[in-house]
Amino acid sequence: MATILPTPPKIGMVSLGCPKNLVDSERILTQLRSDGYQMSPDYAGADVVLVNTCGFLDSAKEESLEAIGEAIAENGRVIVTGCMGKEAEAIRTRFPQVLAITGAHEYEQVVGAVHDAAPIPPSAFLNLVPDAGLKLTPRHYSYLKISEGCNHRCAFCIIPSLRGDLVSRRPDAILREAEKLVAAGTKELLVISQDTSAYGVDMRHSTWPLKSGGTVRAHMTDLARELGRIAPWVRLHYVYPYPHVDQVIPLMAEGLVLPYLDIPFQHAAPSVLKRMKRPANDAKVLERIRGWRAVAPDIAIRSTFVVGFPGETEADFQYLLDWLDEAQLDRVGAFRFEPVEGASANALPDQVPEAVKEERYARIMEKTAAISTAKLYAKIGRTLDVIIDAVDEDGGATGRSEADAPEIDGEVFLRDAGHLALGDIVPVTIEDADEHDLYGVPA
Ligand code: SF4
Repeated sequence: MATILPTPPKIGMVSLGCPKNLVDSERILTQLRSDGYQMSPDYAGADVVLVNTCGFLDSAKEESLEAIGEAIAENGRVIVTGCMGKEAEAIRTRFPQVLAITGAHEYEQVVGAVHDAAPIPPSAFLNLVPDAGLKLTPRHYSYLKISEGCNHRCAFCIIPSLRGDLVSRRPDAILREAEKLVAAGTKELLVISQDTSAYGVDMRHSTWPLKSGGTVRAHMTDLARELGRIAPWVRLHYVYPYPHVDQVIPLMAEGLVLPYLDIPFQHAAPSVLKRMKRPANDAKVLERIRGWRAVAPDIAIRSTFVVGFPGETEADFQYLLDWLDEAQLDRVGAFRFEPVEGASANALPDQVPEAVKEERYARIMEKTAAISTAKLYAKIGRTLDVIIDAVDEDGGATGRSEADAPEIDGEVFLRDAGHLALGDIVPVTIEDADEHDLYGVPA
């Protein structure tokens, strides 16, 4: 019996300008092809025409506008991308019927606009890649990248020189990806970036229309709220304690976002933070943490610290240990300072001897393990929601509470849980604890 394949939409492309624009066109077409689209060599056969414009000179702009006009006259369904995307107003004034306008290198946006204008019919023969993309994590949790690069210049880090300044993804594109992931079975979204609290700064926190009719602001709080409406669990990673982070804590109290913050403090002593050139280096952080706990008492704070940074004295290190006593962080990872090739910290005076780093590392690990143990013991007898990561053949299961991110935090080991499935979120009565993990039974 013959299988009749659905006909995929066809895309026409007019590519103007320099070789860089040509490479952009190739990249867009490669993505569309892998999404299942076919190409049309003429206007007549295309379901939608992409015009990749050039805006280098006035003559190039005029040529771009003429090309848009021709595509509209010949086909009528036109998406504009490329350098003239910066002059969206001028294009809309002359051609109000243009379907969408995106700027140069905005691959995700232009591909999204094509999907909106000419959706691919669902078919295993056309959609070679699942809607939610190819994932390396289990189906029930997914990492969601909201920006790339970083505006800070921490002395021990070379990420900005590798990845450049912060570039945020459009909030509507992030929400669309989140919806696809949840439709494909994701229960927990792990929001990642180099600096989640800075999300949208490069877009001046502008407001974007949503296909559903509403709008969303390119801002961590607004994005977190919208994500909370899409996924059962939303976990925020790499947040810096800027004052506006206070605004996401009520979302935790409301249950929209998990009561969990991953804040890489790296140190507490003001002189060390200054030499590290850390962002949000504010002496009032302890007060802020107290304020967060007043609003969301169960908030789990995870952090990482560097010991033995150049110039760290015994007094600085003791300051850090005392600060940890006050802060009572739930999860802590520690690193001995290592000179990464290209980092400005390598040239700082007063490098700390390896033996001292080792000794401080052992002391911070001992301190944080004691805090973690006490906090986990305090959970015995409580009933906590747990997401199931694995079910074994002997009737046991392994999961994580709201306070545990996958791979980096602790786990909850369950007995009498053979009936559960991966990704289930179930109430669990906690029966025991140790330094890092909890033990319990489905309630
Ligand atoms: S450590 Fe983080 S905040 Fe600092 S420069 Fe590197 S990526 Fe940016």
